Amino acid sequence: MQLLKDRIRKDGKVKEGNVLKVDSFLNHQMDIKLFEEIGKEFKRRFAGEEINKILTIEASGIGIACVVAQSFDVPGVFAKKTKTKNIAGDVYTSKVESYTHGRVYDIIVSKEFLGKGDRVLLIDDFLANGKALEGLADLVKMSGAELVGAGVVIEKGFQVGGDVIRSKGIHLESLAIVDSMDEKTGTIVFRDEH
Ligand code: 5GP
Repeated sequence: MQLLKDRIRKDGKVKEGNVLKVDSFLNHQMDIKLFEEIGKEFKRRFAGEEINKILTIEASGIGIACVVAQSFDVPGVFAKKTKTKNIAGDVYTSKVESYTHGRVYDIIVSKEFLGKGDRVLLIDDFLANGKALEGLADLVKMSGAELVGAGVVIEKGFQVGGDVIRSKGIHLESLAIVDSMDEKTGTIVFRDEH
């Protein structure tokens, strides 16, 4: 998605530890016009698929997932992160190791909002090692819902997540794939630009 790649190149900041900061339009301040275009692009890429629910993980996936849910005209659900094992209520639970925070969270979703008959599209802002999407896919499986696919805004193609998710046979769509980035020069190379 050219509009997105242009924006990443203009406003993205390459930080140490292979972290790309896109706080000015995606992860902190949110450019809703850009989000709308992202929503339309996912709708186009999953055209013909029956999808009745968008599932993401708090916190940074929520904004994007809302706009994507609007473009599919379906509800958006976010899995909650919790550090306590003692979870009250009727929930599905899985574990996710956070790439940016380096710790393990339990993620939960209420059985009320995910279950048999649901056809789910996973949405997240970044794909790095694939832990977040794996955790979400786990919740979908436990619930008896059908996983239709996964959409990420930015895939870091030099990390294993893309391979992990695709090798599970999950239909993955990434709107921008970063193949390399250089912390010193700030250079970002996208997949189709070699
Ligand atoms: P994964 O679970 O695929 O290893 O990492 C994906 C999650 O980590 C995303 O939900 C995202 O919040 C965070 N993340 C991973 N890499 C980056 C990055 O380079 N920049 C930012 N802002 N978040 C990242």
